[in-house]
Amino acid sequence: MPLYAHVDRDACIACGLCQMLAPDLFDYDANGIASYSPDHNTGSQPLSTQATAAFKQAYQRCPTGAIQRRDRPFTEP
Ligand code: SF4
Repeated sequence: MPLYAHVDRDACIACGLCQMLAPDLFDYDANGIASYSPDHNTGSQPLSTQATAAFKQAYQRCPTGAIQRRDRPFTEP
């Protein structure tokens, strides 16, 4: 099943954990607020299989639940 990801930037507290756990998947703006980098935080591209383990680490450990996932693109309702 494909997996799509997105960061709710309003919920991010700029703790830095996701970038430490999955540096290929998360970037930060000048204020330290994270975004999902592979698709510019649009949630439109499926996560690659090789990135799944790192993503799940970040998803499970984000302290605020800002990292979101679903089985269809976030660009769809
Ligand atoms: S782990 Fe969560 S709260 Fe911390 S920077 Fe990443 S998205 Fe933001």
